[in-house]
Amino acid sequence: MGPPPVAGAVAVNFVPSGGGADVQASGGPVKQPPPQADRAMLHRTEHTRTYPCAACGGQLQFDIASQKLRCPNCGNYSEIEAPRAPVAARDLRAAIGELRALQATTAGPEVTGNHEIKCQNCGGTTSFVGSLTATRCPYCATPIQRDDVHNAPARLPVDGVVPFRIDEKNARVLVEKWVSGRWFAPSEFKKYKRLGSFASVYHAYFTYNADTYTWYQGEQGIEYTETYRDSDGDLQTVTRVRWYPVQGEVVNQFVDVPVLANEHTDRERIKTLEPWPIQDATTYSPEYVAGHLARTYDRDAEESLPEARSEMENEIEHTVRRDIGGDQQRIHSLNSTWNSLAYKHVLLPIWLLTVIYLDRPFNVYINGLTGEVSGERPWSKIKIAIAVTLAVLLVVVIVVLYMKFGHHSTGHGSTTTVHHSTHRR
Ligand SMILES: [Zn+2]
Ligand SMILES: [Zn+2]
Repeated sequence: MGPPPVAGAVAVNFVPSGGGADVQASGGPVKQPPPQADRAMLHRTEHTRTYPCAACGGQLQFDIASQKLRCPNCGNYSEIEAPRAPVAARDLRAAIGELRALQATTAGPEVTGNHEIKCQNCGGTTSFVGSLTATRCPYCATPIQRDDVHNAPARLPVDGVVPFRIDEKNARVLVEKWVSGRWFAPSEFKKYKRLGSFASVYHAYFTYNADTYTWYQGEQGIEYTETYRDSDGDLQTVTRVRWYPVQGEVVNQFVDVPVLANEHTDRERIKTLEPWPIQDATTYSPEYVAGHLARTYDRDAEESLPEARSEMENEIEHTVRRDIGGDQQRIHSLNSTWNSLAYKHVLLPIWLLTVIYLDRPFNVYINGLTGEVSGERPWSKIKIAIAVTLAVLLVVVIVVLYMKFGHHSTGHGSTTTVHHSTHRR
C-alpha cells in the first residue's frame, strides 16, 4: 500500500534491497494538463507527473489489460486523457541542430524534474513516472540505490509510444513456457522467481523515414548451359553467363525503420523481437508509462542513424538488383540522393526477465505486443554430461545388439555425380 498522498507534492517511493524506507521528494504539480499541440521541442520545464486516484489518492498506473489507468490500492479505473493520435515525424537535421545548441549552452544536466535511475553496475538509465515500483535494475538485478536517482539531462523528446498489450499474467505464462522448454537449463534457472527481476520496460527507439533516388550502372547476366562429354565420356553440364551493360534509376521510400537506441543491452537478441507494429504508435503521454519503466536513449537520433542507413542501403541495393533483373547482376556504381530524412522517437514495450546465475545476469526479452520471446539460457554442465553419457550408452547398446544378432547386408547402389559449375566471366 502506498503512502498517504500529500497535496501539491510528488511522492517518490524507494524500496531499497534491505527494507521499505519511503522517501518523499516535493516539487512539481500533481497533475499536468493534457499535452498541447505546440509542445516545446525539448522537455526543459516539465515536471515529474503523478496521476492521483480520484477515489483514494493512490497513484494510478497504466493497466495493460484494460488499457486504462488503474489504482493498485482501490481498483478504481480512470480513462487515459491524452487523445490517441498518429505520431508525426521530425526533420532530423533541424531537431539535432536544436539539441546540440541546447547541449552546448547548458552546463551539466537540466533540472527537468524528470527522474532517472542510473544503474551503477551496468550503466543502464531508466526513467519513471510517479512512484518507482522497481527495486532492482531490470537489466542486471542490482538493487536500486536512492542515490541512483537524478534529474534528466537535455534530451530529444519522446514522440510516440506503442502501449503494452501483453499484461504481466500473460507475460509470465510466456516466459514460463520458454524457460521450461529449455531442456538443458539448470533447475536453478527454472526457479527464476526467487532469483530474478521481472519488469515491464519501454525501450527507446528511433524510427526513420527517408526518400531516396538512386542512379546506377552495372551489368545484367543471362545464364545459359552447355553440355559436353569429358575425357571419360560422361555427360557434363556447365552454366555460363553472358553479361550486358545496363544503367538505370530507382526510387525507394522508407517508413519507420527502427533502431534500438540503448547501449549495454543484448542488441542482437532484442533485434529478433522485430517486427514492431510501429504504425500503431500513438502520441506520447506519460500516462502510458505510469507504473512501468522507460529506458532512456543512450544514442540520440543522429548517433543511431548509421544503423538505419546501412539497412536502407542494403534495401537500395536489392532494389537495384531487381531493377537490373536477369539471372545475375553486377553493380559498378551506385549514387543515392537522400531527399528527406525524418525520425520519430518512439517507446516500444518489452517484458524483461533477468536471472542471476553463477554471478552473471541472464536476460530474457518478450515483445510486449506480439509475445515473441528471445532469451539467453545457461547450459547446465551436469545435464549436458548426463545427456552425452546416455547417448554414448545408446550407441554401445546398438553396437552390442548388432554384433550379437548378425548384420543385414545393404545393397550397393550406384551413384551418379552431376557436375554443375558456374563460371563468372
Ligand atoms: Zn484508489
Ligand atoms: Zn543494471
